[in-house]
Amino acid sequence: MRRIHLLPCATLSLAAALLSGCAGEKPAEEAGAGTEAVKYGVPVKAGPMDSLLLKDYEPESSLVVPVTKIDKAKFPVIDVHSHTSMSGIKTPEDVDAWVRTMDEVGIEKTIVFTGAWGDEFAKQVDLYLSRYPDRFQLWCDLYTENIDAPDYSERAVAELERCYKLGARGLGEVSDKGWGIDASEKTALPRDKRMHFDDPRLDPVWEKCAELGIPVNFHVADHPSCWRPLGPHQERTPDFQIFNLYGKDVPSYEELLAMRDRMLAKHPKTTFIACHLSNQGNDTASLAKALDRYPNLYLDIAARDYELGRQPRTGAKFLAKYKDRIMFGTDMGREAKMYRLWWRLLESPDEFMPGRIWWRYYGLDLPDDVLRALYRETALKVLTWD
Ligand SMILES: [Zn+2]
Repeated sequence: MRRIHLLPCATLSLAAALLSGCAGEKPAEEAGAGTEAVKYGVPVKAGPMDSLLLKDYEPESSLVVPVTKIDKAKFPVIDVHSHTSMSGIKTPEDVDAWVRTMDEVGIEKTIVFTGAWGDEFAKQVDLYLSRYPDRFQLWCDLYTENIDAPDYSERAVAELERCYKLGARGLGEVSDKGWGIDASEKTALPRDKRMHFDDPRLDPVWEKCAELGIPVNFHVADHPSCWRPLGPHQERTPDFQIFNLYGKDVPSYEELLAMRDRMLAKHPKTTFIACHLSNQGNDTASLAKALDRYPNLYLDIAARDYELGRQPRTGAKFLAKYKDRIMFGTDMGREAKMYRLWWRLLESPDEFMPGRIWWRYYGLDLPDDVLRALYRETALKVLTWD
């Protein structure tokens, strides 16, 4: 059991923190004799739950509602977002096992982000494509060695072309959560030295992708709650605090999205797929504006099951309206039960289902034409298959 308290607020019990909001109000027990706190119209009394830590709170639901079991997707699926590393793929036997699972759950093809260039990319081509050329498509990573050297762009373009000749049919996932492209807090350069999506050094790379006809999958910013303080008003549970960026030396969420927009505007011939609903799945109205403004912007829904599941009506409408721009992806390994959670979310009308995080999900009950587009047809149109 972890007992790490990041902020003084986190040392408050759950009930007290919810009541006080950590904003100077006194917890109920201290409110003085004779006054009784009332919340939700109910008097607040001290009890065993006052000493419970938020991270340990795992409520069990008493709700009795239908549970739909969907072992295999309704239509064949192309998963446009997975990783060699996260799927634990090292040997031909691992690849065989993955293909067996794909067959069981209804995945026709998987796009694999190899996280590699150079010899490592060539090795992975051999591992996947020698035996399963029709089941996988491999993408290479952005070359990021010596980004400060004057010939960086030239080398990055040359490496991309080399990987393309070996079989790469996309570039990505290229990530910038604020520390710079493919950098982390540990490896970040000083603010003025970082390379972000709108950096001119990357212009030739994006242009080369357009010339080769291959898309770019990119991760910009992160879930917006990462920029909000850890404390009683933090949207997500302590399990996600490792991603928090509040007060850290990174650009704001809005600045990072503005960098995205400048890149999209500057390279209209390049196809960009913003993964995780561009980290704007919490605000589909704003995301819709970006899609309307930039015709070269596409999305994947990878690892944003919870954004769709917490707003099933808005989510379903959004997926229907932009079905030619949005693709299915997972980003969560290769276990059968992971895929099946997606099928239940997208295909069933089930209510209050447990998901990957504390928020419960509601099924989107998507119609067939939307499912077909999301699962396969849009990927067939947008990605490169020759
Ligand atoms: Zn990913």
